[in-house]
Amino acid sequence: MPLLEVEDVRVHFRIREGLRGRVVLRAVDGVSLTLERGESVGLVGESGSGKTTLGSALLGLVPLDAGRVRFDGSDVSALSGAGLRRFREQAQMIFQDPMGSLNPRMPVGAAIAEILTVHGTVPRRARAARVRALLESVGLDGGYADRYPHEFSGGQRQRIGIARALAVEPALLIADEPVSALDVSVQVQILNLMKDLQKELGLAYLFIAHDLAVVRYVCDRVLVMYLGRIIESAATDRLFGRPSHPYTRALLSAVPDVAKGLRARREGTTRIVLEGDVPAPTAEIGGCAFHPRCPRAEPVCAQAPPPVVEVAPGHTSVCHFARDG
Ligand code: SF4
Repeated sequence: MPLLEVEDVRVHFRIREGLRGRVVLRAVDGVSLTLERGESVGLVGESGSGKTTLGSALLGLVPLDAGRVRFDGSDVSALSGAGLRRFREQAQMIFQDPMGSLNPRMPVGAAIAEILTVHGTVPRRARAARVRALLESVGLDGGYADRYPHEFSGGQRQRIGIARALAVEPALLIADEPVSALDVSVQVQILNLMKDLQKELGLAYLFIAHDLAVVRYVCDRVLVMYLGRIIESAATDRLFGRPSHPYTRALLSAVPDVAKGLRARREGTTRIVLEGDVPAPTAEIGGCAFHPRCPRAEPVCAQAPPPVVEVAPGHTSVCHFARDG
């Protein structure tokens, strides 16, 4: 049984937009995915693709309009009381800015101990030792527990954010752009820490990022999201080696390579420049949602929604021409 099963999840917001009155913003529009224990899955796409809303919805932080989320076999949307508390221990989030979840007037050790107190997982007399052990597990000195957030660098603060997330011994971490605010050399250190922790603790990651190089470095599989939908899904090597969807190809043509220091462009690729930004999720686009920007579009693309095509085992692409290579 997968650790996480997501079935046709939709998150729509009703907003007021000028003369159009109330319109529906389809932030997530029919996403299905699975995540196994110990697996690392990347969720990529441009800003506005719905990645963060999806991550929040999976943790119950944003209500679903439709669909189902199962965690360890239980329907999470139907949970309450002790069941919901247990789920919230098992599934934690790591944010881009760990300062947002740290009280600047509280020593970091107290901030970690607070989590242990809320969840009641560690007896009071054992909490100080557990806080030290958590700090050490993320490569920090246990004695830093008495320091305040402003005394740490960005990378150290992200380590503290990870330590807080680990405090309740989760099985799943949803990491939302966890290294995008850090310098390149620090990014690699944090990514290596996350890989080590995954091996040691058997964690599953849903790794949300706009930077494909980061996802390539960490993830077993990659899901590409566009306007609230998954438009391509494949094992990481396959996706980077044989991308099928024109949107993925455009993203990859600009990807830097972690192995070359997160700075170098992929060799042998011609950059495909996409016109314009991701349209607003309120836009009514017939056929394929990507057709106004797609360099490969044909008349049929504006008329009929493309099917989900399995181009190879475990590799799907939502495009009328997915089989054409
Ligand atoms: Fe491009 Fe058409 Fe494929 Fe959509 S269906 S990605 S518009 S070629």
